[in-house]
Amino acid sequence: MPTLRTLKALEREKLMTPDPRLAEAAEAMAIAVTPEMLDLIDRADPADPIARQFVPSAAETEILIEELSDPIGDEARSPVKGIVHRYPDRVLLKPLHVCPVYCRFCFRREKVGPGGEALSAAELAAAIAYIKARPEIWEVILTGGDPLMLAPRRLEKLIAVLDAIEHVGVIRIHSRVPIVDPSRVTDELLAALKPRRAALWFAVHCNHARELGPAARAALARLADAGVPLMGQTVLLAGVNDDVETLEALMRALVSCRVKPYYLHHPDLVRGTGHFRVSVERGQALMKVLRGRLSGLAQPTYVLDVPGGHGKVPIGPGYLGDDPDALSGQLLVEDAFGGRHRYPR
Ligand SMILES: *Cc1c(COP(=O)(O)O)cnc(C)c1O
Ligand code: SF4
Repeated sequence: MPTLRTLKALEREKLMTPDPRLAEAAEAMAIAVTPEMLDLIDRADPADPIARQFVPSAAETEILIEELSDPIGDEARSPVKGIVHRYPDRVLLKPLHVCPVYCRFCFRREKVGPGGEALSAAELAAAIAYIKARPEIWEVILTGGDPLMLAPRRLEKLIAVLDAIEHVGVIRIHSRVPIVDPSRVTDELLAALKPRRAALWFAVHCNHARELGPAARAALARLADAGVPLMGQTVLLAGVNDDVETLEALMRALVSCRVKPYYLHHPDLVRGTGHFRVSVERGQALMKVLRGRLSGLAQPTYVLDVPGGHGKVPIGPGYLGDDPDALSGQLLVEDAFGGRHRYPR
């Protein structure tokens, strides 16, 4: 079964009911549902959390006033094509805009897609020259699109070129491939990710424990066995994972797969994704409950990417406040189970 790429194919698979607004939704962003993800969808459940992530919805045509076409301000921080340089010590390098699946909530939804251009050889050379010329760049984050959509030989070449830049200490790859298209984690790919001078880290995007089927688990195990340190990135999404049980199961599943939960991303103000948005208060409340339930190993940091290109910040919840008894002059610290305790400043 090939990847589903059209509304017709999704209708044929009984994943959606016809709606005139769907054509508009499909126009705004490419469709791709891999066979692995299709297998996970429970067609009897109209609110299936896997389908919700990949199957277009008429709600995508509702654009809210606060939504932005460049929600985290990448453009303002892009000195050369393919590079985003927001923090002094690290850059994003986006060699291509293609993904194995298209996540309807994607913060780059207006950029990704099969029509989205890959960097030409000359543009890639210019992006690498930018990194080479700046000794303050310690970490290069390969993202896109999904860098694992590059042929393994091209990826290997790119990693080798970055590894040869002496001031680059870390090469980080951000990918959804091990989850949504695990058959791409081949020996050839593992060879491309072999240990080198620069430390290679791998961040895998996963939003629901059910995404970690046997093939995805095996792909992650192959990466971990090859010595690649794995971390997890999750987007907090209404109707997908915005409840404690789902997040708890996901974080435990990730840790079981030797993936350290890194970030829980607050959903960005992406155009047409209001139906995925969760309030900050709700996100904080969920994190608070998780703190009392999960091992520290399984705790992600809840972060917001500040619109306008200002970067990511942890957004709580907070555990420290002023003691309402002003005379004590102390802090009041809340423990993970809701108890409150005075603590000296
Ligand atoms: C998210 C992001 C990074 C990585 O941030 P970390 O907090 O180090 O994971 C780097 N550069 C840009 C432009 C980013 O958006
Ligand atoms: S795989 Fe990543 S970049 Fe691609 S559509 Fe999904 S969230 Fe966006």
